[in-house]
Amino acid sequence: MIIRFDRKVRRIVSFCIVLAIILGSVVVDKSAIATSKMQSLLYKISSDTKNANSSNEINLSSLNEYNIVAEFDDENKKLNCTQITEYTNTGSDSIDKVYFHIYPNAFSKKEFAPFEESEMKLAYPRGFNEGYIKIEKLFVEDKEVDYKITGDKNDILQINLQDKLKKKDSVNIKFKYIVKLPNSLGRFGYGENTVNVTNWFPIACVQDQRGWNLKSYTEMGDPFYSETSNFKINITVPKEYKLAYTGILDEEKKSTETTLYKISAKKVRDFAFVMSKKFTIATGKVKGVEIDTYNLNKNMAEKATEVSEDAISIFSDLFGKYPYKKYSVVASDFYIGGMEYPMLSMIDKSMYTESNRGLLEYVIAHETAHQWWYSVVGNDEISEPWLDEALTEYSTLLYFEEKYGKKVADRMFEEMKEESKDYKAEDIFRASTDYSNSVEYSMNVYTKGAIAIGEIREKVGNKKFFSTLREYFEDNKYKNANAKTFVDLWEKNGVDVNKIISEIK
Ligand SMILES: [Zn+2]
Repeated sequence: MIIRFDRKVRRIVSFCIVLAIILGSVVVDKSAIATSKMQSLLYKISSDTKNANSSNEINLSSLNEYNIVAEFDDENKKLNCTQITEYTNTGSDSIDKVYFHIYPNAFSKKEFAPFEESEMKLAYPRGFNEGYIKIEKLFVEDKEVDYKITGDKNDILQINLQDKLKKKDSVNIKFKYIVKLPNSLGRFGYGENTVNVTNWFPIACVQDQRGWNLKSYTEMGDPFYSETSNFKINITVPKEYKLAYTGILDEEKKSTETTLYKISAKKVRDFAFVMSKKFTIATGKVKGVEIDTYNLNKNMAEKATEVSEDAISIFSDLFGKYPYKKYSVVASDFYIGGMEYPMLSMIDKSMYTESNRGLLEYVIAHETAHQWWYSVVGNDEISEPWLDEALTEYSTLLYFEEKYGKKVADRMFEEMKEESKDYKAEDIFRASTDYSNSVEYSMNVYTKGAIAIGEIREKVGNKKFFSTLREYFEDNKYKNANAKTFVDLWEKNGVDVNKIISEIK
């Protein structure tokens, strides 16, 4: 994600990009770079998580399967849904309960709403408006079963199984539910232009070697953690709507009033869609990947498409091929900035102006890099947000380096060093919930985090740096990685990343 504070920072960054490109030089004050002491923080992190998922092996033939039929009631902003999930127990023991995130309930009360207090007005310009999920019926292997709604924000569903589910065995779970969208300009909700349907259906909580991960939808960072799965989704919407979505369209059926979209998405860790009556769709193609940009300002459609194509191409060359056939970049009523979902990125529509051109490029490049770090290689974004955000932020610089030259990227890197000079490298590695506000979160996890990745490159040289990142991508494709996976891989290649990061000034 790109969060609002970053937008402030990146206004400076994007100004630098434009200047650097036009004038070929920007003066950067390198004088005041703070010193910091750091002791084996990555080791601490890696030992904290050493039992977590380290021997994570993924069996692509036994991924969870989600089959959802959803009908959108535009007047009430509700989705009437039936979902069948074939859940496979990937844990190390038999289980008698299965847990699902039911994120829409984090929008059911004002005090649950996952926004900082100071941002409530931006998230709800017309005042708080509720969103929720109402589970109507639940069947396991066709028998109606008991369930419990739990979690700090009523956003965890506990399903009691009548028979124990052995390791590697599967169970068929059928849900009937209604999702109500709030009038909210965050990831989940609707505004004047778009309906943002993200983190909307019951999605299995992750079992790793720490056990079940049952964390609620918090305001800081992207509080998500999920397993790669297969999806078949049928969505019926009023025919005036155009739909942007994760996955590939199998069939589109129009009736007098509605359009039915039959979509499949294979080997992705989530399914999101955004709809609007106002989209101008532009298309492109790069390295066999179809690029669709959904625009609300058609004057910027060409730019959005160019950046999306270039980003997919650059990151495919640097880290390994983008493994899907399609990628969509969607202008949205989304005040926060940018947000990644598999095969789809949401971008704040206010960035689609001529004066925000540099910023739009930065945000699209950042969200596209998340297709590698978050989407294909996943991680627990609450416990270790730096693992995807720091890599993504540094990858964004690499986009500028590849496209506009090293000088431009170097200036941006120096600018980031200057901005984050009062933050310590040891604070990069905290859980998202351990930062007190989004400024602290962003400067540590993104900016200082990107500097840490840049330092590794500087110390080991391009050859080892890029070959190790490619190896990290290949080894962890469709899996969930963690700090230990990351540190161990560098160590295997003879690099002590802990030492490098601890020496950052
Ligand atoms: Zn991000």
